[in-house]
Amino acid sequence: MEKVVIIGSGPAGWTAALYTARAQLAPLVLTGKQPGGLLTTTSIVENFPGFPEGVDGYELMTRMQKQAERFGAKTTFGVVESADFSKRPFALIVDGEKVEAETVIIATGAGHKHLGVPGEHELENKGTTYCATCDGALPMFRNQPLVVVGGGDSACEEASYLTRFASVVYLIHRRDSLRASKIMAERTLANPKIKPIWDSAITEVLDVKQDKVTGVKLKNLKTGAESILDCAGVFIAIGHVPNTEIFKSQITTDENGFIVPEQGTMTKVPGVFVAGDCADHVYRQAVTAAGAGCAAAIDCERFLAAQNH
Ligand code: NAP
Repeated sequence: MEKVVIIGSGPAGWTAALYTARAQLAPLVLTGKQPGGLLTTTSIVENFPGFPEGVDGYELMTRMQKQAERFGAKTTFGVVESADFSKRPFALIVDGEKVEAETVIIATGAGHKHLGVPGEHELENKGTTYCATCDGALPMFRNQPLVVVGGGDSACEEASYLTRFASVVYLIHRRDSLRASKIMAERTLANPKIKPIWDSAITEVLDVKQDKVTGVKLKNLKTGAESILDCAGVFIAIGHVPNTEIFKSQITTDENGFIVPEQGTMTKVPGVFVAGDCADHVYRQAVTAAGAGCAAAIDCERFLAAQNH
């Protein structure tokens, strides 16, 4: 039986692993299907303290993993299919195998939010994507008009990145001002290759019949006018949904699925803790997730110490 199992390998998971490893609890980290989490799909992270020149997201996560492993964290590539928190030890089913744990730290992060319009799902990997750094350099997007949807930091980052490959990048946003941080918004709007299209929503991704993206149907939300915009790719960057589905029946979540801790980082199940974006719809930064991972590890260590006395 494991003393501590950490589910997820983003900044929250690895920081929790570092702290519990240094407390000699030999934590087991279950990476999930995307080791390193969503940060591995971003390019340069400019706001993680300690890296004045910025740091590649993948490199940052690899360093965090190495640091945790140096102190005895164990890593298993695996996806948790179900969790039973009804009795102790807790039981997790990981790719068909049972793992027992005295304590669990949930650090499962969040996944990409989808638009939910016709054509989006059907044309995934055929021009519809959720990650510019993963897919932007593909030949199908070179020197083509591309569309980015969203008005946050992610959309700005994706749009800027795509200007390396695209002939033009249309940034489609449902309002008339960006939600992104000031520095990102200013940089984006000053880029001559990025053309914002305000107050507009995509109502369909075209063209399922041709089995590839050829354009999008747009609706102006102020005037109601509809139009078609030709493009070879649609990059959707409209936020995230927490990866909490398998835990929902056993711990408290809010109406959007974010886990609500009850005492510090502990959930309503004693011995089950939470950290990072799966419980945070406000800050959602790598550094706040790392901080939450540290807090969960300390709470977990104290919980185990109290149990053993
Ligand atoms: P976000 O800040 O939640 O922004 C999501 C954007 O998508 C908003 O502009 C929102 O519009 C729009 N949107 C949401 N649902 C939509 C829908 N159904 N249809 C059309 N548009 C929709 O998400 P994010 O940009 O992914 O950023 C998440 C967090 O990560 C933020 O805290 C951000 O600061 C951080 N981040 C930081 C960096 C960086 O600093 N390098 C990079 C990426 C992300 P409204 O504005 O109208 O709500």
